[in-house]
Amino acid sequence: MQFDSLDIIDPILKALNEEGYSSPTPVQAESIPIVLAGEDLLACAQTGTGKTAAFAIPILQRLYESHVHGEKRRVKSLVLTPTRELAVQIGESFTAYGRHTGISNTVLFGGVNQNPQTARLLRGVDIVVATPGRLLDLMGQGHLHLRDIEYFVLDEADRMLDMGFMHEVKKILAALPAKRQSLFFSATMPPEIVKLSASILHKPRKVSVTPVSSTVEIINQNILFVDKSNKNSLLVHLLQDTTIRNALVFTRTKHGADKVAKFLLHHDIKAEAIHGNKSQNARQRALNNFKAQKTRVLVATDIAARGIDVDELEYVINVDLPEVPETYVHRIGRTGRAGASGTAYSFCTADEKAFLRDIEMLIARTIPVIDAHPFPMLIQQPEAEASSRKPRGNSGHPAPKPQGKTGGWGRGRRPGKSH
Ligand code: AMP
Repeated sequence: MQFDSLDIIDPILKALNEEGYSSPTPVQAESIPIVLAGEDLLACAQTGTGKTAAFAIPILQRLYESHVHGEKRRVKSLVLTPTRELAVQIGESFTAYGRHTGISNTVLFGGVNQNPQTARLLRGVDIVVATPGRLLDLMGQGHLHLRDIEYFVLDEADRMLDMGFMHEVKKILAALPAKRQSLFFSATMPPEIVKLSASILHKPRKVSVTPVSSTVEIINQNILFVDKSNKNSLLVHLLQDTTIRNALVFTRTKHGADKVAKFLLHHDIKAEAIHGNKSQNARQRALNNFKAQKTRVLVATDIAARGIDVDELEYVINVDLPEVPETYVHRIGRTGRAGASGTAYSFCTADEKAFLRDIEMLIARTIPVIDAHPFPMLIQQPEAEASSRKPRGNSGHPAPKPQGKTGGWGRGRRPGKSH
């Protein structure tokens, strides 16, 4: 199926094309027609299924079609989401898919100065993506009201509940107009969530898609414990395996991406970095080189990698573990697409172990550890840490002496196959 069979308007189709999306994911194919038809939606879908576009595309389209030329922008759509990171990602999705529609969005979350947010609201905006606390705060101060809301999305409802936001959510619901279209997304549907959805939705249509874990399950995932100073050397070591034809490498920072690419080039591994400091043209060029297999390794930050869709990408390497566990799922989901096989290697330092725990909780599985590599972690872990990760090889114990660059896997041996 293609997006154009879903009655999506040209300005959005154009943007999707630019994002490199060729066909809708199952949650998109099912939800977009329901939302375009004006019906309420109850969707059971996790992060990684493409759920953001499933609500962002039809909301953008409906707002575009109803916008009266010259009218001041009012907040007509509210997306409520539990975390700042999700809010930012959703805002970016609206911006990306709506870039040819003139429909504007802004993101509101706490922990930062509110002045830029209130200044943006004052200029007029169509869509607000918010975390509950800051939204209520700004509403209380009179910086926005929800009287004009026509489209309301509750995203990650189960997490909202887990994070103790139910009181805030209920207060926000009370401020919404009764006549509205509501979309409810949750990865799981425990009884409290079903009850909450019943209080929000009117005769909802239901959509349920295979949980992201099934995508995660087909990817061969591995953790390599390593000290920070050895990350780049370990990466070079991994890439000495010539069966890795191409790999998408993730770093947390732009600076980190540049440094890794430089290090690889220095070791005769053809690499390019893409991140927000590079021009759109430079990023596109690097991506094209990677797709055409002129560059073996593309080093990217999460933001820059959004929308990268490379066919037959077999390897994702996380030089840094992401702080937000969903980001891990996004990253590794670049490989193993459309039934193809995929392998993910993630480096983890002592400082990153908490991120690893969050990731393993999200994906509900323990990621196998590869101990046999030449740069094992030398920093000894505290006792509690060591015992909590007991089943995971020697990572929590005094590490063996490094075996030098020639140790570990022999040439031609596929890393990870022993696990
Ligand atoms: P989400 O579940 O909304 O967090 O999306 C997961 C990832 O899939 C995001 O990185 C999106 O950019 C990407 N994505 C969403 N829809 C599509 C699509 N139709 N084709 C390819 N990638 C997509």
